[in-house]
Order: sequence, then C-alpha cells, then structure tokens
Amino acid sequence: MRRTWTVALFEHEQPDARAQRATRRLVDEWNSEQTPALTTLPGPDWMPTSWRATFDEAARDRVESLRARLVAAHDSDGVEYHFAWRDHVEEEDYASADFIGLLGAEPDLSFRFLVNEQTAFTPAPPCPTCGAQGPLDVAQDEPLVIDRKLLDRALADLERPAPGGWDAVGLPYGRLLVSHRLLATLRERHARGHRTSPVIDAATGEPADELVQLSADRAVLVPCPEHTRVDGGGICPTCGTSHGTLDGYFWIRDDWLDDDEVISQHPSRAAVLSLSRRLLEAVRSSAPNGVRRNGVTMVCRHRAGGDRRSNPTR
Ligand SMILES: [Zn+2]
Ligand SMILES: [Zn+2]
Repeated sequence: MRRTWTVALFEHEQPDARAQRATRRLVDEWNSEQTPALTTLPGPDWMPTSWRATFDEAARDRVESLRARLVAAHDSDGVEYHFAWRDHVEEEDYASADFIGLLGAEPDLSFRFLVNEQTAFTPAPPCPTCGAQGPLDVAQDEPLVIDRKLLDRALADLERPAPGGWDAVGLPYGRLLVSHRLLATLRERHARGHRTSPVIDAATGEPADELVQLSADRAVLVPCPEHTRVDGGGICPTCGTSHGTLDGYFWIRDDWLDDDEVISQHPSRAAVLSLSRRLLEAVRSSAPNGVRRNGVTMVCRHRAGGDRRSNPTR
C-alpha cells in the first residue's frame, strides 16, 4: 500500500495580511531548503494564488517536517492550510491480502428500482458510544423489492455484462445484490460466514430468479490492537467509525474469525463486505460481471490459546 500526502495553501483563505505574509514566507523558506517544492498552479490573473505539494512514501519525514512548520505558522500567525493523505491499494496488495473488499456494479440511483426503499430502510440513531452517524447507518426491516426493468435501465449506461448477466450490483447504503452464479461459486468453495436473503421481484411478488442480497454472519469493527496502527483517536467498538487515522493495514486476528471467509466491517453485517482472497479470486473467474475490488484487510496469527474471550467481532 502506498500513501501520498498533499499540502495546499490558498492566499485568499488567509484571515489577514499578516497571515498572508507568513504564508509567502513559509513557502519561500520551504522551497529554498526542501523538496518537493510548494508550487503555484498556472492560471489567469483573477485566480487566487495557491501553492501545493504532493509527497510520496519516500518523503515521509519531510512531510512531517512541513506539517510541523504549518502548525507553528498557524499558531503564531494564523496561517490556514490543507493537509490530506490518501492510500493507494496496489496489485501487490491484492496479491497478498487475506481479505478483499467486494463491491458490485453501480446502478444509476435516479432510476427508482428499489421499490420499497422508504419502508425497507430506517435511519439508525447516532452511535450510543461515540455519537457518530455514518452514511451507511440504516436498519433494514424487510426484504428488498426490486423493479427489474428499472434496474436494467439503471445499469444500462455501464459496459454490458458478459454472458450470464450481472453477478454483483451495489445498492444504496452499501448493500449488495449477488447472482445465484456467484452464490454457487461460494458454496462450491464451502465458504463460511455468509447468509442471503431473498429479493422480491416487484412484477410477480415472488423471490427474483437470479438475485439475492448478500450479508455476513460476522461484523469485524475493530482491528487487532497489536498489529494495527491507528494515529489519533481510536476505532469505535460499537459502530466501527474511525476517529483517528489508520496507518497501514487493518489487521484481524485469525482466532476471531472461526474460519469465516465472508465478513462485514459495518454493524449491519450487510455493508462493507469482504471475501477471503481465495473466494474473491474464484468469484472473479467464474462470476465476474460487475464484481469490483475495494481495498484489502490482513489477518494476523497469534499463538494458540490466545484470549478468545476478548473476541470483539459480532
Ligand atoms: Zn461509535
Ligand atoms: Zn494481531
């Protein structure tokens, strides 16, 4: 996994002339001593002046040094700045991952193919532990009812699926529909840890022939504290919201999983689904239509007889 950082400063965001002078001074000093340079984007005269620099993994110590200068300039002169990072999951991560996130084809949600969206999903209250309320936090109270014709139209703008039709389709709130072909692939591999619920075809009122909703038996919300590094606040054990920054991989203890190969990283157990690499690779070869990968999770092995009573999965 490769992390990059971006630092940006905007002259027009500075609160006063003093902060503007301090910003220019900081940029000049940095550029005379360090790389990568904070560069100005070329543009028309009316465009506000801004500077930015992107740092890669090799410049990790320098980005920390620039961050320290920015914090100091903010404290002394009110300089405002933007500091952001991004993790890039690469092929070599997918090749060595223990679990790989599973996403489906993304339908155009302006086609209201989910007929009972209003009654099936109710907003979940804020987390009782940390107060967070994420975009996927809904309770599902009944089976989903799908208008097949509208779903086909919602998917029509995507590249047509290969023979066999769609195998995975993303739904609102991170929920996922999968084909019976995909399900058969999981069963053939004796996959543990998943469950399905029928999806109702609105035209007939009967379960749809080819699609079911996939969810996991187990939600893994917090990582192994020994192997996972989280800077700043921790990860809420109730809702899984990260109040800090994950540095590197999310690790799960193998003795928490009981050999499950389908897991969720959301309390609903129906969103943020991952498959073991073995299963994901099987799916990509035999039921690939619409299947997309979404990040990696690692499994750590601790000595047998570890404290299984503290298993935080549910
Ligand atoms: Zn929480
Ligand atoms: Zn561990």
